[in-house]
Amino acid sequence: MFFGALEAGGTKMVCAVGDENGNIFERVSIPTTTPDETMQKVAEYFVNVNAERNLKALGIACFGPIDLNKKSQTYGSILNTPKVAWRNYPIVKTLKDALNDIPAGFDTDVNGSLLGEATWGCAKGLTDAVYFTIGTGIGGGAMAGGKFIHGMLHTEVGHLQVALEPNELKDFRGVCPNHGTCFEGMASGPAIEARWGKPAKELADKPEVWDLEAAYIAQAMVDVIMTLSPQKIILGGGVIDGQAKQLFPLIRKKTLEKINGYIDTKELRNMDSYIVPASLNGNQGIKGALELAQLALEEQD
Ligand code: ADP
Ligand code: ZN
Repeated sequence: MFFGALEAGGTKMVCAVGDENGNIFERVSIPTTTPDETMQKVAEYFVNVNAERNLKALGIACFGPIDLNKKSQTYGSILNTPKVAWRNYPIVKTLKDALNDIPAGFDTDVNGSLLGEATWGCAKGLTDAVYFTIGTGIGGGAMAGGKFIHGMLHTEVGHLQVALEPNELKDFRGVCPNHGTCFEGMASGPAIEARWGKPAKELADKPEVWDLEAAYIAQAMVDVIMTLSPQKIILGGGVIDGQAKQLFPLIRKKTLEKINGYIDTKELRNMDSYIVPASLNGNQGIKGALELAQLALEEQD
């Protein structure tokens, strides 16, 4: 059986075809420009592969915020994203219309990555887990009791409030356009660059950079541990992937320091397998989109 998978990101759209076992047979990457230009190419790709392979369903893991409420008039649309041209764009409808109303699964990009890990990766068999991407922005997806947290909207744990760390630079007040000093404002790639005056990857040999970075990440770890009680926390994205070797030990240590003995579980006693890197070689997002497709087909049957 063939499924279409779309990882819709702010810089590129990864379109792929795979099967129910998580195999990916082909993929293309289309730059994210205007909705009309981009989505015409994306739709064309899926229409062509559908003619060849008869796709059973499509899964879309999309940058947000997005409307996931199936009872809403605007279900399947992108909401008030900072990417103004994409505001209110009905991404699910556009693709369903192009593909004869094929079943379509839809969730956030980060829930998609978490689903990929929960289906084929390091969160397999778990019911409660959190996935963060720390890159140009920070986003996080969360699963509780085997379901994604949708509720009012969906998790936006990239914008958790963080406290200024004691060794924060005197005048740095963060880069989030909405909140300044939220988690993303203090710990995204652009935050690191704004604070230290150089791109993050050029700061690899500066311990103070990664000490502070890990401290903010640890604050977010503690917050999700206390609120969501995940069985595992997975970290991905350019900043994490680029500095994994020095960041993970610091993040684990600082998370335990901040918890300060208040909770004591076997997971927290095994930090090396509790806060972990993504395990699917960068394919967690597209594989999660593939699983969204399969779930949409099952839901319809
Ligand atoms: P996006 O969030 O747009 O999907 P990425 O996850 O690829 O993007 O992350 C891009 C960010 O990662 C940039 O802000 C960049 O500064 C940062 N980055 C890239 N390479 C490294 C590296 N080797 N070390 C630390 N940060 C890096
Ligand atoms: Zn923010």
